[in-house]
Amino acid sequence: MEGRIGKNSVPLHGSIDKSKILDVKPLKSLIPIFSMSSQTPPLGQYPSGFSPFFPFGAPQQTPTEVTPNGAATPIRAYRSTPWAGDTSSTMEGFSDQHTSGKKKRGSPKSRSAKLSLDKPKRSQEPPVDLGALVGISPAQKDDGSREMVNFVLMAFDALRRRLCQLEEAKELSLGSVKRADLKACSILMTRGIRTNMRKRVGSAPGVEIGDIFFFRTEMCVVGLHSPSMSGIDVLHIRGEFEEETLAVSIVSSGEYDDDAEDIDVITYTGHGGNFFKKDKHAIDQKLQRGNLALDRSSRELNEIRVIRGIRDAVNPNAKVYVYDGLYKIEDSWIGKAKGGGDVFKYKLARMSGQPSAYSVWKSVQKWKSGSSRTGLILADISNGAESIPVALFNEVDNVKAPIYFNYFHSLRHPKSFSLMQPSNGCTCTKACVPGDLNCACIRRNEGDFPYTGNGVLVNRMQLVHECGPTCQCFPNCKNRVSQTGLKHQMEVFKTKDRGWGLRSLDPIRAGTFICEYAGEVVDRAKVSELVREGNEYVFDTTRIYGQFKWNYEPRLLEEVNPNESSEDYAMPYPLVISAKSFGNVARFMNHSCSPNVFWQPVVYEENNQSYMHVAFFALRHIPPMTELTYDYGVSRSDHAEGISAAKGRKKCLCQSLKCCGFYG
Ligand SMILES: [Zn+2]
Ligand SMILES: [Zn+2]
Ligand SMILES: [Zn+2]
Repeated sequence: MEGRIGKNSVPLHGSIDKSKILDVKPLKSLIPIFSMSSQTPPLGQYPSGFSPFFPFGAPQQTPTEVTPNGAATPIRAYRSTPWAGDTSSTMEGFSDQHTSGKKKRGSPKSRSAKLSLDKPKRSQEPPVDLGALVGISPAQKDDGSREMVNFVLMAFDALRRRLCQLEEAKELSLGSVKRADLKACSILMTRGIRTNMRKRVGSAPGVEIGDIFFFRTEMCVVGLHSPSMSGIDVLHIRGEFEEETLAVSIVSSGEYDDDAEDIDVITYTGHGGNFFKKDKHAIDQKLQRGNLALDRSSRELNEIRVIRGIRDAVNPNAKVYVYDGLYKIEDSWIGKAKGGGDVFKYKLARMSGQPSAYSVWKSVQKWKSGSSRTGLILADISNGAESIPVALFNEVDNVKAPIYFNYFHSLRHPKSFSLMQPSNGCTCTKACVPGDLNCACIRRNEGDFPYTGNGVLVNRMQLVHECGPTCQCFPNCKNRVSQTGLKHQMEVFKTKDRGWGLRSLDPIRAGTFICEYAGEVVDRAKVSELVREGNEYVFDTTRIYGQFKWNYEPRLLEEVNPNESSEDYAMPYPLVISAKSFGNVARFMNHSCSPNVFWQPVVYEENNQSYMHVAFFALRHIPPMTELTYDYGVSRSDHAEGISAAKGRKKCLCQSLKCCGFYG
């Protein structure tokens, strides 16, 4: 149960018999003894980590005892059994994001299909801890940092995407993956690729307020909220007489649409009592497990991390989780559920002085439903060229608009432009299907479908080969991701010190296509001339770009192809684009030394000729209203002369910890 507020449960303020509340021990007198839920599963128990790990394997408990009833009873009087492990839970947050039919298909095996997930290699050896090999020290496993949290989250999602890709290559229809996130989580846990294993009261180092997650399992691997199903995460402490528990984080999935909700207050409904769907709330909740921990926390007044579950607009069956910072329990009482059973209610208030997180989502929701916003200059700078309007905002100064340009959604090639040999697309008759090696486009991608069923890029590659206008497949083929326009509600806004910038009102999931770099393709020989003229809208694929790891770690899947992990690709041919006169939203994206967006060359056929495009994808999950940035790279001549000789470079204002000072 995760804080869904029953309509009939009226808070009974003052109904708690305060005289029965026991003396409160200061927190420092309580010694943490162990952190049950963050333990690694016993080594060697599961082959290759494909079985459920510890939190999933535990049996469910159903309360059977009879406890006193009555609205005037304080929550403490409900105390029944000592802590027995937080194993009961609902399936909330476990809605499968991909649920379509499962049929086998007799098609040629792709390279991927050689790796059978159904029959993992059975090994007598315990899983090897890869933490050290990928650069995670034992200390970093215990205590995270921003860098480590990002590293683990990227490793998680890269592995999850690859598992989706492998599954989808075996299935008839796209989107039929059975919880690739659980498999990815299980593998990372058993291989020691995780952080913040040490449970704590207060914030999880490296997880920032406002961070978003698309799976509960992502919060497990970074230690924000350890149980992957239960809404309450607890810390075991040594009390005066017996072991006790404190609540350290909760996942609240109170309905986002509830307008009356105070954004800084949560009424959280305790745990249990709704085990039987048909008989919801007919059973009284017990003061045990998570409820017992919340009860203790309501007396200790310790900080509790709150994660808000919000329905994902893109996928209504799934949720996006927002870390909303630290809260404290202000009040607790016993309410009545619809079916007549007693439920524990806890009122949590957000601690002051924290950056906004959930409130941003609420604002966006209001704006989307039509409420006015200050600073709106233009409702759509694309003039209808994009299917989703791109608004122009300035809340910073009086500048009314960027310098004039023509909005254009793709590339304009000069007439004489010819780069590759004439080329044909695929001859698929419907939509191209993962695993179908008869498809020429899939073959060009080394046999892998480059996108998952919901359009997320799986790996960075030297080139992603998409189906194009020349292909005979349906226009809705899933291999045309970068040609289908903007997917998010974007806006161009005036930044404080970096001119215009780009951001999205919608959360953006890692690997999601954002936009292409539109503009006029120019002769490479003219680049220096353009730069001298002060053209700030030149995209040049021949620059030197910071390297980063985005793809999955092949060793985690026992794949032995050392080349696969390298992401240092040479460009097959240079491409220079000027977006000064013609361009789209991409021309407004600023540089950052720690960007949240990266570019990927994408090729497809048009008029029987291959054309390369520059497509931008989310590097990690990006919360709403966050500025989108990518690495502008360094020109080769500047690079050769060294940083000190870099003329014409601009001072970088990205403010990231890794900022190298200049770019361009
Ligand atoms: Zn196709
Ligand atoms: Zn095809
Ligand atoms: Zn094709």
